[in-house]
Amino acid sequence: MDVTELMTGGSLLPITRWGTPVMHAPTRRVESFDDELRTLVRDMFATMEAARGVGLAATQVGVDLAVFVYDCPDANDVFHRGVVCNPVVALPAGDARQLVSEDEGCLSLPGGYQPLARPDFAVCTGVDVDGNPVRVEGTGTLARCLQHETDHLNGIVFGDRLSNRVRRKLYSQAEELAHLYPADWPVSPKQRPE
Ligand code: ZN
Repeated sequence: MDVTELMTGGSLLPITRWGTPVMHAPTRRVESFDDELRTLVRDMFATMEAARGVGLAATQVGVDLAVFVYDCPDANDVFHRGVVCNPVVALPAGDARQLVSEDEGCLSLPGGYQPLARPDFAVCTGVDVDGNPVRVEGTGTLARCLQHETDHLNGIVFGDRLSNRVRRKLYSQAEELAHLYPADWPVSPKQRPE
C-alpha cells in the first residue's frame, strides 16, 4: 500500500508520556498485516502530524507493537516518509562511525530538548504494512529519527542515553512547559503561552 494513502483519514490519539509502562518495555513483533495494523498506522500518521513530530512509535500511542512512522528530513532537507514494522538499525563501525551531538526531543516528553551524540548515518531494515521488506538509509535528522524510533520499540527513551546531569536538565525544561500540553495532547491542542 502506498504510504500517501496511509497519511490521510486517521484519527488523533493521545500521546503516551515517559513513565507509562508501555514506553519502557520491549514491544511485540508485528505478525498480522491486516486492517487493524493499517488503522493504527493511519492514526499514528495523523497524531504525528498534529503534534508536529518527525517520527512516532506505536508505544507513544500506548500500543506495544513494533511499528513506527516517520516524515522526516535528511541531511539535505529532503523529506522521507514511511512505516517500518519490526525495525532493526545498523550503524557504521570503525572509521565510518562519526558521532554528531545535536539537540534531541521526544513527543512523549514535550518541551524538553538536550544534545545527544549519535552516529550520523543509520540503516533501518524491517517490513512495511503489507509485510514486504523495507530498507531506509538515513542521514542528518533522519539518521537520528531512525535510531530514536527503533529505540522506542525496544523500550528505550532517549533520556536513558543521557548522563544524569543532562537528564535532570531535560526533565526541568519539560516540567516548565508541561502546562502547555493537555493530558490528551494532541487530541486537545497545545495551549498558547500566556
Ligand atoms: Zn520519542
